[in-house]
Amino acid sequence: MNIFNFFIGVKGEFLQALLLLPVILLIWAFSLELHKKRKRRSYVILSNISMVFAIFTGITVLAALTLSALGRETQLFSSIIGGISNAAYVTLLFGYFRIHNKADLKTLLVFIGPAALSAITGIVLPLLGNVICLLSIGAIFFLHGRKLGRGQQNLISSSLFGLSLLISSITNLVPDIHGAVYMVGRILPTAAYTLLLINLLVHSMVIMQSSYVSAITDPLTGLFNRRYLTRFITTYIERNYPVNVIFSDIDNFKTLNDTKGHKVGDEVLKQVATIFMEEVEGIGVAGRYGGEEMVMLIQDTDIDMNELTERMRVRIEKETIVTASIGYRLFEAGVAPDQLIKQADVAMYIAKENGKNCVVRYTRGNQTTATTSPATNNGVGNSAMSHG
Ligand code: GH3
Ligand code: MG
Ligand code: MG
Repeated sequence: MNIFNFFIGVKGEFLQALLLLPVILLIWAFSLELHKKRKRRSYVILSNISMVFAIFTGITVLAALTLSALGRETQLFSSIIGGISNAAYVTLLFGYFRIHNKADLKTLLVFIGPAALSAITGIVLPLLGNVICLLSIGAIFFLHGRKLGRGQQNLISSSLFGLSLLISSITNLVPDIHGAVYMVGRILPTAAYTLLLINLLVHSMVIMQSSYVSAITDPLTGLFNRRYLTRFITTYIERNYPVNVIFSDIDNFKTLNDTKGHKVGDEVLKQVATIFMEEVEGIGVAGRYGGEEMVMLIQDTDIDMNELTERMRVRIEKETIVTASIGYRLFEAGVAPDQLIKQADVAMYIAKENGKNCVVRYTRGNQTTATTSPATNNGVGNSAMSHG
């Protein structure tokens, strides 16, 4: 028996449904998972559509098995399956559209109207059903192609599905065509749905990534947030990796906010953040510790810290309308992570005391080099102090 014959008639319906079932079940599972994470109505809609379609496909598998066992091949069965599966594809496209857009009644009708029409006419006149489905997919892309999200892949998916419609129409008109044509027609829908599944996977990857990014970064500056910084330095020190700490605070920032407004203040924060980000690239991480306080953790301890912090200070002075006071603390084994940050903060505080816009290195017990008042200078030296 010719292997292509498996794709003709009720056996073909069976194989097509069997191939489709896992793909649709995965779309269902993923949309449910997305709903669990994001609680959005659009995921419920998509999961309901895919659930109904999965049940329908399951029934198709069973019905095809039963008909095959009874030795019955009915054109009506094929027509019903064809009609509903056309409608299912268009309805699923609506589910994808809904992920990225709100839909009013008119938009809903653009999708669901032709889908229903195609299903009903397809049962009576398969050829006409296919033509309506093909036209409605074309119309959807013409009207909403740009809003489908990952439009190009959806377009390829729809083209594959459209091709399967054409082949199904051809086999309807010329039934004794070569079995290979039937085979291609049966496999194409699965390819089309697989592309839709991949779209959903990419979509959930983007979502997972963005929720991770927003969990560890500060939305205004794009720097890491305080929680991430703390976790980062703790992990580093627990593993006995050395890390230097820089603590920076913008000078007279409150005055800037009061005189130029909060918006300008925000802009300046972003500029300063960008300078820090650029300066630590490849050698450490930069984070926003509080309002206008930023902390940098330098993993590469071969870096000349005095040169680095001085370059940061000069760049802020030259490239923005503010200046910053910077303190840093070199790594020392046995000092707890929060102590390292605290001591870099103390050094920054000394920089403020010294007239701001300067860099101070924290040095334990180095009080003789201190020029600021001993009361505020306990355990801190400013041997590395440099003024702008
Ligand atoms: P000093 O030189 O001693 O650091 O003085 P300062 O005015 O910079 O210090 P202070 O801590 O008194 O002021 C910090 C200001 O930072 C207060 C607050 O309004 C402002 N600030 C905190 N977060 C933001 C923010 O996200 N945007 C803007 N525009 N301002 C912020
Ligand atoms: Mg401050
Ligand atoms: Mg300040």
